[in-house]
Amino acid sequence: AEYGFRRVALDEKQTLVDSVFHRVARRYDIMNDLMSGGLHRLWKDAMVSWLAPPQRGPGRFEALDVAGGTGDIAFRIVERARGHAHATVLDINAEMLAVGRERAETRRLSGDVDFIEGNAETLPFESGTFDSYTIAFGLRNVPRREAAIAEAYRVLKPGGRYLCLEFSAVDVPGLDKLYDFFSFRVIPEIGRVVAGDAEPYRYLVESIRTFPNPERFGGMLRRAGFERVTWRLLSGGIAAIHSGYRL
Ligand code: SAM
Repeated sequence: AEYGFRRVALDEKQTLVDSVFHRVARRYDIMNDLMSGGLHRLWKDAMVSWLAPPQRGPGRFEALDVAGGTGDIAFRIVERARGHAHATVLDINAEMLAVGRERAETRRLSGDVDFIEGNAETLPFESGTFDSYTIAFGLRNVPRREAAIAEAYRVLKPGGRYLCLEFSAVDVPGLDKLYDFFSFRVIPEIGRVVAGDAEPYRYLVESIRTFPNPERFGGMLRRAGFERVTWRLLSGGIAAIHSGYRL
């Protein structure tokens, strides 16, 4: 059971996260490029190529992208599947989704991607609905991570695939110093200049540091019932992709 104070703290965390993305929605995509030096594009490509949605065959591959924001992962999935996949983007923030819908229009992908407002902790879908569940730079923002993982397991079909892309603990000597400098100086500064406020970015950087290391996160997935859990480190371990199956 959750104690009252813990629940309040978790709800406050969500409120803070929401206010960050509410404020930055319109500038989110450009901020991503600035803050990661464009690397987030390569990491997202890596996640979707590891997923490898089918490019032929009967039936439609049903992809769910949680905390999907402005649609980066969903667009990659449906483009790669060349008409054989449909994606649902779920995000708690209506502003991010609105930007995503506009981007889908521009790319002529509105028919292939749906945008739904909802919480990763309590997904508004029936059990066994999706062939894949992806979450990119989202899980660290979710206050009750175990609940989000349990929900991922629930909504996947048997045989369905779970993929999570997230920042990770850096293990290359020297790179950690650079990473600290980037996290505590550069990122809040970009936040201040582009979005007018550094404070929320300090918080986001903190949330990266409290995310479990790859080993521990792999354990969390196994405990939730996922099988064949593996992961890949990206760019010297700045980011990691975890994979698992509901079998
Ligand atoms: N996946 C996108 C990407 O990689 O570009 C967006 C990532 S953005 C860093 C994090 C997203 O998580 C935001 O759009 C935010 O609204 C969403 N988010 C935060 N808490 C959430 C929750 N509890 N349920 C669903 N989405 C959430």
